[in-house]
Order: sequence, then C-alpha cells, then structure tokens
Amino acid sequence: MPDIPTVQTVAWVENPGKDGYLIIRHDVAVAKPGDGEVLVKLECSGICHSDCRNVSGMGIYTAIPGHEGVGNVIRVGRSVPDSLLGQRVGIKWVWSSCMNCAVCKSGNINNCPSQMNTGRSVLGTLQQYVIAKAEFVTHIPDGLPSEIAAPLLCAGLAIAGAVSKCEPELQSGDWVAIVGAGGGLGHLGVQIAANSKGYKVIAIDSGSDKRQLCLDIGASAFMDYATEDVENKVKKLTDGEGAHAVIIVAGSEKAYEKAPDLVRNTGVIICVGLPRGDFHLPISPIQIASRGLIIKGSSVGTDAQMGEVLSMALAKQLTPKVEVHELADAPEIIKKLQNYEVTGRMVVKMP
Ligand SMILES: [Zn+2]
Ligand SMILES: [Zn+2]
Repeated sequence: MPDIPTVQTVAWVENPGKDGYLIIRHDVAVAKPGDGEVLVKLECSGICHSDCRNVSGMGIYTAIPGHEGVGNVIRVGRSVPDSLLGQRVGIKWVWSSCMNCAVCKSGNINNCPSQMNTGRSVLGTLQQYVIAKAEFVTHIPDGLPSEIAAPLLCAGLAIAGAVSKCEPELQSGDWVAIVGAGGGLGHLGVQIAANSKGYKVIAIDSGSDKRQLCLDIGASAFMDYATEDVENKVKKLTDGEGAHAVIIVAGSEKAYEKAPDLVRNTGVIICVGLPRGDFHLPISPIQIASRGLIIKGSSVGTDAQMGEVLSMALAKQLTPKVEVHELADAPEIIKKLQNYEVTGRMVVKMP
C-alpha cells in the first residue's frame, strides 16, 4: 500500500456568500474510507461552473468544491473488494443514490430524491485525496488521458443527458439552440448535438474565442448575445419560427429570460444551467399552453449515458477542449468562471 499522508493540500471555500473566495490549504486531514467506500488519490479534477455555487454560498455546499475527479484507488473500506485497489476511476456529481426508489430502479439515479452529491453532501474533488462510494465510481478506460476524462464526468455527462431530452420531439436536421455553447458543457453539447444526433446547432455565447471554437466543432451558426440581436437572428435562420429546442446551459437568469423567445411553438425548452435558487422561469402558463411548449429539466445523466460519453471520447467523436492548470490556480479559475470567461474546460492537476 502506498504511503498515505495524514494531511493534504486542498482548495477551500472561505466566507461562502457574495464575498466568498477560494484559498489553498495544506492542513486538511486525509479521511479513511468507511463501509462501502474507497480512498482515491486524485490526479486531476475539472472545475465546473456550478463549483462557483460553493463559493457564492448559493445553497448548502461543502467547503471543498469539485465533482469531476480522476485518480487511483489507494485504500478500500469494509465490504469493498481489494480488486478495486490501483484502478483508475472517476468521481462524479452523484456520489451515491438510494438504488431503491422507483426513479433509481428506472436507471435515473441522477434524479434520485435521496442522492448524495460530491461537493454538496461530501467533500469535493479539489483535494489530493477524496472519499468515494465504490459502487458509484466510473471506471476510466485505458487510452483516455485523465485530464480528458475529467471534464466528461460532469460536463460531458450533463450535456449528453440534456441533449438526449430533445427526444422524442426532435428529428435529425432540426434546429437546436444551445445557450452557453462555448463553455464547459456547451462545447461538448455542440459536438454531441451536431455530430452524433445530426441536429443543426445554433451556438449562442459571447466572444471571439467561443465563436471560433463553436464553429470549429460543428455549430451551424454562432450568435453573440453581447453584441447581436439573438432573437432576430434565430428567427431569420429558422424561417421565422424559432428553434425546435433551446438548451439553456448557462446558469444566468438572462439566458432563461430569453429562452421562450428563441423556441418555436410546440418546441422544447431544456433547463440545465443553475441560476440562483429563487429565480423562476419567466413564462406564463398561458404562453406554455397556447404555444404548446414543452419544458424539461436535466441534471447530469445516467450510468448508461456515462458509458456512451466515454466511448465517444475514446473513439475521438467527442473531444473536450481542456486547459490544464495547477490546483494552486483554482482560486483564479473560479473568478474567471464567475465572469463566464472560460472557453471549454479548465482542469487542475493535484500536487
Ligand atoms: Zn458540474
Ligand atoms: Zn433513489
């Protein structure tokens, strides 16, 4: 068994709330795995926009954010087979689910009302050593670099889950607008929607980096919400009717306010990004009824979708755009995410 230190380096939320920020600490205890748990020595972790919620105190979260970790199992708790030792695994947002409710039994563990979440119920993956539930880790296939696998665990899975909600209403060739298309989830969504589902993707985001990225990876059009009249442009492109579906990946309230104007009658609005908790979708039941709109929600995805996402990445049909940094850069990265300044995904290596 490798030497396991008693303390470790982590990214830690100070003063959660509107003045919250991340610091790097070197004195946080390394936990011992309990029954059914494993200790994973992380190689790297992605940083998701929703990790900003830990910092801004938008709900009950832990002091260590992160839910896209990849590393090796170095210790197993009671009732976990030794065969897991040394395996490379991924730790996701769903830390565990009950496996007993009807939702879990239907395969939708990501919607289990009793689920526990990494970075919310248990400490997250912005630390060197993390505890995971053995049953819920994802085995990372050989040949997939850890820093590529990491963003697939939340961003890849979440957007695969969201794009799948275009079915059964949409057909190949239909228009899908993705709001927040150049970010961590969005840029993977453009690839899945355009390349594997055959939808025509309208990528909506801001800035020349994100424009270039979206057009390079398969978007049919890019619209800059900061400088262009997006509603008008979407209508023009879609014979005046609007997109068949709008996937709102950005956690911004503005994105949600705009969505009903971008979708056609009988179209689908898919809620993915997380605005502040007391924000409500600004659409009246009269509009929903008379326009025949369909509103769906999507939170990460199923185990089956995780498998598909990893296979697609292995076959190079899905390529996360990743920038690799050190854990020490996490405080700066969170600030950039809060300002929607990150194109693709930032991944940090553990010291
Ligand atoms: Zn996430
Ligand atoms: Zn359940």
